[in-house]
Amino acid sequence: MRFLPIFVDTAGKKIIVIGGGPAAEAKLRTLIKSDADITVIAPSVTTEISRWAAANSKLNIEEREFDESDLAGASLLYAATENAAENSRLAKLAKKRGLFVNAADQKEDCSFYSPAIVDRSPLIVAIGSEGAAPGLARALKADIETRLPKSTGRLTRKIAELRTKLSSIMPMFSDRQRLWAEIFPPNSDLSSRLNYSDAALDQAYEAALSGSASERTGKVSLVGAGPGSLDLLTIGAQRRLHSADVIVYDRLVSQEVLDIARREAKYIYVGKSPGAHTTRQEEINRIIVEEAKAGHKVVRLKGGDPLIFGRADEEIDALEAAGVDYEIVPGITSAAAAAASIGASLTSRGHNKSVALLTGHDTKGFAEQDWASLAQPNARAAVYMGLGASRFIQGRLMLHGASSEYPVTIVENASRENEKIVETTLGNMIEDIEKHDVLGPAILLLGYATRDAAMNGNLPLRAAL
Ligand code: SAH
Repeated sequence: MRFLPIFVDTAGKKIIVIGGGPAAEAKLRTLIKSDADITVIAPSVTTEISRWAAANSKLNIEEREFDESDLAGASLLYAATENAAENSRLAKLAKKRGLFVNAADQKEDCSFYSPAIVDRSPLIVAIGSEGAAPGLARALKADIETRLPKSTGRLTRKIAELRTKLSSIMPMFSDRQRLWAEIFPPNSDLSSRLNYSDAALDQAYEAALSGSASERTGKVSLVGAGPGSLDLLTIGAQRRLHSADVIVYDRLVSQEVLDIARREAKYIYVGKSPGAHTTRQEEINRIIVEEAKAGHKVVRLKGGDPLIFGRADEEIDALEAAGVDYEIVPGITSAAAAAASIGASLTSRGHNKSVALLTGHDTKGFAEQDWASLAQPNARAAVYMGLGASRFIQGRLMLHGASSEYPVTIVENASRENEKIVETTLGNMIEDIEKHDVLGPAILLLGYATRDAAMNGNLPLRAAL
C-alpha cells in the first residue's frame, strides 16, 4: 500500500490550486465541498470557476502568474495547469518544501491523489487503485452509488446522535461495538437497514439495547479456520470472527483469514510449530477460560476443522470444568481441501469404502497404526503431520507388503496461493519430498493419484480400476 488512504481535516487549511482551465475545474468540483480556504492562481479561469468563487467566500481567485512565495502557509497544492511540464516543475517545488502535492493526471509527480468518492456526507466511500485501474475504480463507484440511498447521510447523522446518548449509558467500547453490530450486522444484506427512517433506527436501537443487557456472559467458540483460503471459510466462522472480543489462534491459521476478523479484537497467538511447543496446552486452556470468564466472546481459531487433530477435547474438558459456555463451528479439514485440489474422490464407489485420517505423530513419537490393513492395495489414507514421519510410514507399509508403486500424492499448503502438489509413489516419496522441497504443512494422500495421472493411466492402482 504505497498510498495510504486517510481523511484529512480541511477546516482552517489553505489549499492552493495552480491553473484555471478544465484540469483545475475538475479538481475544484470536489475541493469546494471541503472546509478549506482555497486559492486559485491562474492568469484566467473558466466561467464555472468564477461562478463558484462568486458563491463561495472560501474560494478566492488571483488572476496572475504563480510565484513561489504563494506556497507559504499552504497545506496542499494542486498543480493543475494545462501544461504537463509546468505541473511537474510545480510539484517538485512544492515537494521540496514538504508540501503534499497533486499533479493533474501525472501520477509520478503526485504525493497524493484524489480517490473516486461516493459522497453521503458525513459518510464517504473513497476508492482508489494507485492509478492502476481508474476504470475499475469508477465502475465500483457507480456500483456503490446505486447501493447507498441518498438518505445515507441523514442516517449517519442520526447514528451520531444515538452514539452520544449511548456512550453515557454503556461505558465499555466493546459493548457499544457489539450493539452496533447487532443493528448493522456485518456480512448481511444491508439494503433495508440503509433505508431506515429515523423512527425505524430508534426502534432497532432500543431493541438491541434491551437485548444486550441480558447478555453479558462470555463464551468460547471453537472455530475451524479451514485450510487457508478465504473461499473455504464457513459463514459461521466469518460471523464469529466479526464479533469476537478475543481471538486465540494457531500457527496454521492463514493471514488471509485473520485479516477479515474484527480489528479491535485482542489477538493471542498460541502457535505450536513441530518440535517447538510455544504455548503449552494447559496455558491455552487457561487463556480461553479466563477470557470467557471476563465476559468476552472468545474465538478459539484452529486450522482446518477443530475436531480433527485439533486437541479440541482438552479445551472442551477445561471449559466444562470451569462452567464456561462453548460451541463448535466446524471447518473444512485440510485432507478435504487436498483431495479437491488433486481432483481425487476420497471415497470411490466400488473401490475404497473407507478412508483413514491418520496422524504421523502422537504423544509418543511416530504414531503406530494398523499397518497390515493400510498396506492392502485398496486402502486409502490421508496423513496429517506426516512429513517428519514419512520414512517411518514408508518403512512400516512396505514391511507389511505394500507395493513400492503404490501412488502417493502430497499436497502442501492446500488451497493457498503457494499450494504445491507432488505426485509420487510409496517407493519414491522420501526422495521426492526432498527434491521438491516440501516443508509443510502438507497432507500425504496414500493411495491417491491426481485425477490427471489416474486418467492417463500412469499409476497402477487407478489404471486397474
Ligand atoms: N485441524 C487441522 C489439522 C491440524 S494438524 C485440519 O483439520 O486440517 C496439522 C496438520 O494439518 C499439518 O501438519 C498438515 O498435515 C495439515 N494441514 C493443515 N493445513 C494444511 C494445508 N493448508 N495444506 C496441507 N496440510 C495442512
